Formats: sequence, structure tokens, C-alpha cells
Amino acid sequence: MRTSVLVALLAVACVLPATAAARTVLLGRSWQGRPIQAIEVGDPSGVPVLVVGCVHGNETAGIAIAHALARLSPRGIDLWIVPDLNPDGVAAGTRQNAHDVDLNRNFPWRWRPMSGVYESGPRPLSEREARIAHALILRLHPHLTVWFHQHLDMVLASGGDRRIEKVFARVSGLPYHPMPQLAGSAISWQNNTLRDTTAFAAELPAGQASSAAVRRYAAAVLAAARAP
Ligand SMILES: [Zn+2]
Repeated sequence: MRTSVLVALLAVACVLPATAAARTVLLGRSWQGRPIQAIEVGDPSGVPVLVVGCVHGNETAGIAIAHALARLSPRGIDLWIVPDLNPDGVAAGTRQNAHDVDLNRNFPWRWRPMSGVYESGPRPLSEREARIAHALILRLHPHLTVWFHQHLDMVLASGGDRRIEKVFARVSGLPYHPMPQLAGSAISWQNNTLRDTTAFAAELPAGQASSAAVRRYAAAVLAAARAP
């Protein structure tokens, strides 16, 4: 290698951020065989943070935010992004998965049988997609997990650290609403199981988010992740 080329390469290496390139991991597959992937960006030795872009298949606006976050490389944050935990529901345009189960009622915390729109499944973690998220959260032990939903237009806070939730609300512009904890929800399960962590729902307005809104919500995730 010519010295000039080597010097140029070294110069490039010095200005690159001290973060790893994005890494895509196949977490598993939905009941209908669709891949459920996670993307890891940022600093693998940083604070672990998880974002789920979509869990209810008819609430898809968060997927664009997930993809926007996946293009970043935040310093000090080990950012894990699951753009779509319920690809069968997204394909069918349904809240539930392919078994007609509401994945956000299928988690173990105070699980109880529910039917209809909140069908909670035959038992806790009966659903593949819920098991995938459950295993990932136990493995990552995320300091913060943000679940995007629609379309209540609020930060739906239930059991996490209110300071962190309020930072997200302020930066995102979504009104802050503490709510009772929901039986069988992923958020209640994390907040009651990994007690030193925070999970909350970012309920976006109806429809798809504008590109400016996508940037604002992505910035809110990073601000909440860095909240003191
Ligand atoms: Zn939802």
C-alpha cells in the first residue's frame, strides 16, 4: 500500500465516531413466518435502550421513527430498535397477531384471561412475538424501553421513572398522562420486573408522522435515554 493511501485511511479512521456500525439481528419469526428483526446502533458498551416501533399491527406510525433511529449512531447509548414486533398484524392491518391475540396483554405481569379486542391468549407468553420481546428485554435489561402506539396522542406513563417520561413528553410535544398499570402489558411487566428500569408508551396521533415529527420523536428518545 502506498504511504499516501495509508495516511489517508488513518485520517479517516481518526474522524469516525467511536461507535459500531449498525448490526441487524434476527430475533425470531412471527406465527406466519415473517422475520422479526432488531437493529443495534450506537455504542455497544453504552446504556442499553430499546425502542419498539410497532406492536399493534394497525398502529404503524412508529415504524418510520424506528428506521430514523436506526440511521443514527448515538454516543454513549447502546440503542436497540425493533421496527415491527407484529409483522403479521401489520400485514393484515389488525391490532392483534395472527392468533387474534393482543400481544400487549400477553405478558406475565398480572396476566388474566381477556377476550375481544384485548384477547390476552391462552396463557402468559403464549405468543411467539411476545416471547421474542420478553427474551430480548431480559437479555438487554434496557435502562429505557419506548413502545410506540397510536393514536391517543400522549405519553402514556404507567410505573416508570417520571423524570425520564417527562423529558420524552417535553421534547416530543406529546402531553404527559400517568395511567393505571395494565394487566398483561409489556410495559407493566418491565416496570414491575426490572425495577431499576423504565418502560412507557408513546401514543402518537392518528395517521403517519411527518418527517419533522419523525425527527422530533427520534430526538425525544435520545433525550429520554440521556435524562439524568
Ligand atoms: Zn397500541
